[in-house]
Amino acid sequence: MGAVNESATQTKPGLLERLEDGPVICAEGYLFEFERRGYLQAGAFVPEVVLEHPELVAQLHREFVHAGSDVVEAFTYYAHREKLKIIGRENDLEPINRQALALAKEVADETGTLFAGDICNTNVFVPDEEETHKQVRAMFEEQVGWAIEAGVDFVIGETFSWATEAALATEMIKEAGVPAVITLAVHREPHTREGWSPEEACKRLEDAGADVVGLNCIRGPQTMLPLLEKIRATVKGHVAALPVPYRTHDEQPTFQSLEDAHYHDFPDGRPFPTALDPFVCNRYELGDFARAAHSLGVNYLGVCCGAAPHHIRSVAEALGRTPPASRYTADMSKHAYLGTDPTLKKEYREFAKEL
Ligand SMILES: [Zn+2]
Repeated sequence: MGAVNESATQTKPGLLERLEDGPVICAEGYLFEFERRGYLQAGAFVPEVVLEHPELVAQLHREFVHAGSDVVEAFTYYAHREKLKIIGRENDLEPINRQALALAKEVADETGTLFAGDICNTNVFVPDEEETHKQVRAMFEEQVGWAIEAGVDFVIGETFSWATEAALATEMIKEAGVPAVITLAVHREPHTREGWSPEEACKRLEDAGADVVGLNCIRGPQTMLPLLEKIRATVKGHVAALPVPYRTHDEQPTFQSLEDAHYHDFPDGRPFPTALDPFVCNRYELGDFARAAHSLGVNYLGVCCGAAPHHIRSVAEALGRTPPASRYTADMSKHAYLGTDPTLKKEYREFAKEL
């Protein structure tokens, strides 16, 4: 199993080498994108699209790389035993994982990007029930095992509300012999479900062997940024930040807590998860976040649930990159009314104030 990884790292720099050279960008948020497109059901949020429309998954990977992602993250988020069981598809557990890994590998190989495996919160972990720890270990072990067999460059463990569950993920990934990127999900109260501050939890995960620690999902740029400063000041190694692209604020710091002043007839009582449209950050806000987080010393950056390729392009450009998609970055000088190009007709440019 180790031989697969050795041959991969000989042909391209690995995650840790790239982080030494500068920031690494990782696009996330496949669940929400496929939900919007009509290939995945909100609620259980299981990535069935991997088996049903694999060509679409490969295409979305390509779109995110085109926009500037340095990582192709296998779409195995919530492709774990508990989630497959709740939708009655436990028999598809291994096929869905192997297929998601093969699709990500294909795109990583063709683009020279990093190929990442992915595990996440299991929703069965209970800290004082030892039996659940065994169950969680077994779930991580099978998913990490398939990722290693597929030849991943590293494994991401993400959206953990319990830092102790994140520590189990760290342990399983490090035992498999690859770098571990571990990110925590911080809810309304700015601490983990154990009651640890994000910086204390990240320090513990770093001490447990995680190569990159930080936060992803749940909080938007405005309510994630203040937590990152303390994490950066507390841990020694690399720090990750992948917010959701929504305008969360002090009173409603998470995307689950956002309330809409203009619309109230939500089928499920709140905008999350299918009516968050009015809260979406524009691309420049994500660029501002990336610049601010990077200047704090955060060097693994991305966007989570709700992200689309234009957000990732903006993150990449904020970090000084020009991904292929930058060829089409706006040039309003050529706009018929708002432009400045000398070939534009005066009669149109003068009409600009009437638009
Ligand atoms: Zn997310």
